[in-house]
Amino acid sequence: MTADDRLGPPTSLYVHLPFCRRRCTYCDFAISVSGPNLQDRYLDALLAELRFVSRTALADEPLKTIHLGGGTPSLLGPSRLARLLEAVAAGFPVADGCEVTLEANPEEVSEAAAREWAGMGITRASLGIQSLSDPILRWLGRGHDAELGLNALGWLRESGIPQLSCDLMFAIPGQSTGAFLDGLERVLQFQPDHLSCYELTLEPGTTAQRLVDSGRCQQVAEAEALEQLRSARARLLVAGLTRYEVSNYSRPGCQSRHNLNYWRGGTYLALGAGSHGFLGGPAAGALGLPVGRAAGVRYWHYRDAATYARVVGQGTAGIRGSEQLDDSQLRLERLALGLRLTEGVDVADERLLAVSRRLAVHGWLEVDGGRVRATPEGMEILDRLTLELIAA
Ligand code: SF4
Repeated sequence: MTADDRLGPPTSLYVHLPFCRRRCTYCDFAISVSGPNLQDRYLDALLAELRFVSRTALADEPLKTIHLGGGTPSLLGPSRLARLLEAVAAGFPVADGCEVTLEANPEEVSEAAAREWAGMGITRASLGIQSLSDPILRWLGRGHDAELGLNALGWLRESGIPQLSCDLMFAIPGQSTGAFLDGLERVLQFQPDHLSCYELTLEPGTTAQRLVDSGRCQQVAEAEALEQLRSARARLLVAGLTRYEVSNYSRPGCQSRHNLNYWRGGTYLALGAGSHGFLGGPAAGALGLPVGRAAGVRYWHYRDAATYARVVGQGTAGIRGSEQLDDSQLRLERLALGLRLTEGVDVADERLLAVSRRLAVHGWLEVDGGRVRATPEGMEILDRLTLELIAA
């Protein structure tokens, strides 16, 4: 992707479906635990926003990726999901081979549901397993146990959905390295095409943070978290899953194309409560956003599902705010995002290259002409490295 392509018309669409059965102990996302009434109202609002956007020039270019994220998109059930995908296909041209991802939790996966998702054109299922230890799943506040997680993996694998991804967490209080690796081993038996392996972060205000603060459980020591990460990376490599982003591993050709576009600084459309989109200047103008002399514009929607539905009901796109970004801000963002990728990022600025070369002496970065990449050691301290580069 060249610098010019990145700010071209958006060919990626993110749709946020913010519903969950309950809030997990570690979660601070924009979600709603309301029942089916709000889900129907929300879906109506989402389709109204979709029609609004599809009447603009933003719907001229065929979509290459569609990502249904949440929340728990699978909670909407096959008929609502089918209605949503039909509306997307009616509103936008869709490219051949478009990646269509559905995020799902094991509670909603059944043999029948997985087949229905395959039939409606889902090409990639992303399953939130998180752990395969029942006490740990209870601590996380998840609604499934290990057996259901494994069943869900099996049903998705057999469903006809071409690609299977799954999320696992490490550095969970109370989960030993052995138990974590045992869970990873059981997941690998299903030969996932992609795996996201995230470190549990304790977000302020979450139940998990309060449990740790009150001393009722202990945060995993940094050295142990690092051991879990390194062991997982080595095991995944043997299984044919190569790291391509700081927390993401895939078989060749099975990277998340939607997220790659995001990490490479590409533009994308977003629909739904709490979702963020990013557009080049002319495209943002088509959505009625203030553009000025900006090279790119980020925009975001009302975070609360009921408020979003009400505002869209008044004939708007439900957008709460936007931010204009100039060239230098975009370059810094691309640097921060691109360093997350093992392919690295092009750096044109001589000062940044000089700092990168200095950091390369410590073995944290590789500099190859104007291309800068974080090494595996650098990935372990990526936030610090990025801050140092941005400060330059
Ligand atoms: S399922 Fe995901 S989005 Fe929903 S509460 Fe749990 S972590 Fe948050």
